[in-house]
Amino acid sequence: MADVYDVVVIGGGPAGYVAAIRAAQLGLKTACVEKWINKQDKPALGGTCLNVGCIPSKALLESTELYETARHNFFDLGINVGDVSLDVPKMISRKDQIVKDLTGGVAMLFKHNGIDWLQGEGKLLADKQVQVTDQKGKTSVVQAGNVILATGSVPIELSATPLDGDIVVDSAGALDWESVPSSVCVIGAGVIGLELGSVWRRMGSEVVLLEAQDTFLPMVDGAVAKEAKRAFEKQGLSILLSTRVMGSEVKKGQVVVSYHDSEGDHERTFDKLIVAVGRRAYTDNVCASEADVQLDERGLIHVNEYCETNVPGVFAIGDVVRGPMLAHKGSEEGVMVAERIAGEHASVNYDVMPNVIYTHPEVAWVGKTEEQVKSEGIDYQVGSFPFAASGRAKAKGDTTGLVKIIRDKSNDRVLGAHLIGPSASELLGQSVLAMEFDATVEDIAHTIHAHPTLSEAMHEAALSADGRAIHIGNRKRK
Ligand code: FAD
Ligand code: AMP
Repeated sequence: MADVYDVVVIGGGPAGYVAAIRAAQLGLKTACVEKWINKQDKPALGGTCLNVGCIPSKALLESTELYETARHNFFDLGINVGDVSLDVPKMISRKDQIVKDLTGGVAMLFKHNGIDWLQGEGKLLADKQVQVTDQKGKTSVVQAGNVILATGSVPIELSATPLDGDIVVDSAGALDWESVPSSVCVIGAGVIGLELGSVWRRMGSEVVLLEAQDTFLPMVDGAVAKEAKRAFEKQGLSILLSTRVMGSEVKKGQVVVSYHDSEGDHERTFDKLIVAVGRRAYTDNVCASEADVQLDERGLIHVNEYCETNVPGVFAIGDVVRGPMLAHKGSEEGVMVAERIAGEHASVNYDVMPNVIYTHPEVAWVGKTEEQVKSEGIDYQVGSFPFAASGRAKAKGDTTGLVKIIRDKSNDRVLGAHLIGPSASELLGQSVLAMEFDATVEDIAHTIHAHPTLSEAMHEAALSADGRAIHIGNRKRK
């Protein structure tokens, strides 16, 4: 007889593994099917995020930012160092060790919580049965009371720029080069393209980003996006908008990229090419037709606000469903679904979703942009504060950027917060909390912030919404 579980999760990324842990915490007998085979040819939990996404990219961003600081900023801080040099293989192996520690940590958490990790490829059959095919092709079937589909996403490939795993790579491949290419082309100036482009630029590559759209970071508040483009270009990233890549060809160990812009067709040769044109939901062979799970028009698994599919007892979470492709969004959905299966009244507040681009300066935002509130006809007011006027930012020698807060004039609620600057990812937390607690801008203005901290910039931005900022010249607004 098939093993029987209260919950079977298919996919052990940040959506699936968190769902499994929360389900087990709530006393549900839980299994998680995961097929990932890592760089060392070993099965691994953690999905895209831990293996080839959030974590390894941040490890390389950290190393390379410090390298850049040591080379360009130490002198200004009164520190003379000798020649600063790179050890790229060490940087990569440090990154790999962090990945190993964290993915191993998830396996330990599974053990600790009594979750069965079914290694192999899961497929949902009819009647909430799940077939598991292991690496050797052996299949078994388990019976689930509830199934959570958390199969994530994979990079979108362009047929005109085929990957070869070395010269032409996707985001995962760009985390593993062991020497610094002299030139790198990135297709797509989105979040991933900018982060990976920054990593290799800091190491010394000439980096060119080709972006088909005419607006830079269209999902980011306009003032922040403008500041970001200026800052990235000053660092040496070349960002070409309205530029569509038509194809690529590997020739003599390099890659010739052909692209089209307003001036016509062009060709340019680079050492490496990163294809970072977005990700697609991964639903290949995940549900048998008799399981009868519906996809939406974009190929995502169709779910309602509680991540319920059209089949009772079958849920879907994370990158494989609508909404931003973010690890924390998937994890929160995992918690919600596990709690609802256990009979609790859980929900996810999709209106308060933090977003970060981990470049330097970091870009971070929550809620609506000024462009959005304007187009929605909301009566709003903006408060802002530049890091150039922050004592702490000055002391750090890191003054690029600003904090911008948007309030609803009718009730003083925070509609959105938009940051670019040092530690913006961490500073964002207070705005997220403010929105989650329905705080007003006056509440933030009224809150004592330690001096000297970067968080004072948010305090001043809140004060500036009605002309009360102390450290910038502003007028009382009507
Ligand atoms: P995934 O992490 O993709 O996990 C899905 C898992 O399901 C995989 O392990 C896969 O092997 C498994 N699977 C699929 N099909 C089957 C099957 N049939 N049987 C068994 N297992 C299966 N997000 C952030 O929030 N912050 C960041 O800083 C960030 N940085 C990123 C940087 C990069 C370079 C990339 C590529 C992504 C980044 N992301 C970031 C996005 C983030 O990685 C994803 O949003 C997140 O991993 C989605 O989680 P998930 O669990 O839905 O899917
Ligand atoms: P993101 O979805 O944030 O990862 O960003 C991917 C980016 O790639 C988007 O801004 C797309 O406009 C861009 N893009 C997709 N296809 C092409 C192409 N052929 N040439 C240039 N840019 C592209």
